Amino acid sequence: MFQLQPYKGKSTRHTCPACGHKMCFTLYINTDTNQPIHLKVGICNRAIKCGYHYTPKQYFADNRNLTNNDYQNKTPYIKPFQPLHKIDFITELYVKKSLSQNSNFVSFLYSKFKPEQVQRALFAYKLGATKNNEVIFWQIDTLNRVRTGKIMQYNPLTGKRIKHQSGAIDWVHNKLKQSKLLNYNFNLKQCFFGEHLLNSDKNKWIGIVESEKTAIIASLNFPNLIWLATGSLNNLTIERCTVLTNRNIILYPDLGASLLWESKAINIQSKTNCTIKVSKLLNQIATINEKENGCDIGDYILL
Ligand SMILES: [Zn+2]
Repeated sequence: MFQLQPYKGKSTRHTCPACGHKMCFTLYINTDTNQPIHLKVGICNRAIKCGYHYTPKQYFADNRNLTNNDYQNKTPYIKPFQPLHKIDFITELYVKKSLSQNSNFVSFLYSKFKPEQVQRALFAYKLGATKNNEVIFWQIDTLNRVRTGKIMQYNPLTGKRIKHQSGAIDWVHNKLKQSKLLNYNFNLKQCFFGEHLLNSDKNKWIGIVESEKTAIIASLNFPNLIWLATGSLNNLTIERCTVLTNRNIILYPDLGASLLWESKAINIQSKTNCTIKVSKLLNQIATINEKENGCDIGDYILL
């Protein structure tokens, strides 16, 4: 049996391995031997400011391959602790400095939409540009805090993405870390692209798509919804959807991702208080060829 060490004076409260505060850490002990399991297996009583809690169950699961003897001899694996409550932000000065229509992506938009429409989207989503004419899709949360920016290049004529050879994506927080303008341990928590627009009208329905480009194009065509992008297929998580509480949402999965998003929608709806519909629009109108290519709603608007 394991339990938290009962309080018997100062000697039973220790220094927290995560936040370093003294006499705030309670160890789990083995009730047969009265010995601690490991000096890092315990809970910090600074629940809000620190949040460290490493349970015996987690510890033994992380060290499944060690036998009883090994526990004395070998150093067990301790899961690196990610502070629960700490999210780092980027100063909005970088956003302000980057605001620009000099990206290939915006040139493409100008070729397809009216100038005043494009400018409305530029302003709403605070699109930025790099000196290489890449677009910066900033992720700004509902409290107007900047999480990071995604830097992407597009062909100005076709609007198709130009990927790096490696397929990797450039991020503003990584660039700032490389130039030592951000701490190496910057703790990124992504949010939806367009999330800062949620407060603009609390009654509006919300459309969620996968790519930032699609969110912008959809916002130009269907301004009666607030359009957000997850940024990637797997970014639609319960945690991220807590900002959508009490809202009405329509998901527009890319072709080929419908089943996955439908199952996620059911899960998210059961754990948060929001109403989610999954659009079947694309599946109904798409040809087989398009389904194989994974078209999204943006491709259809531009047809
Ligand atoms: Zn602590």
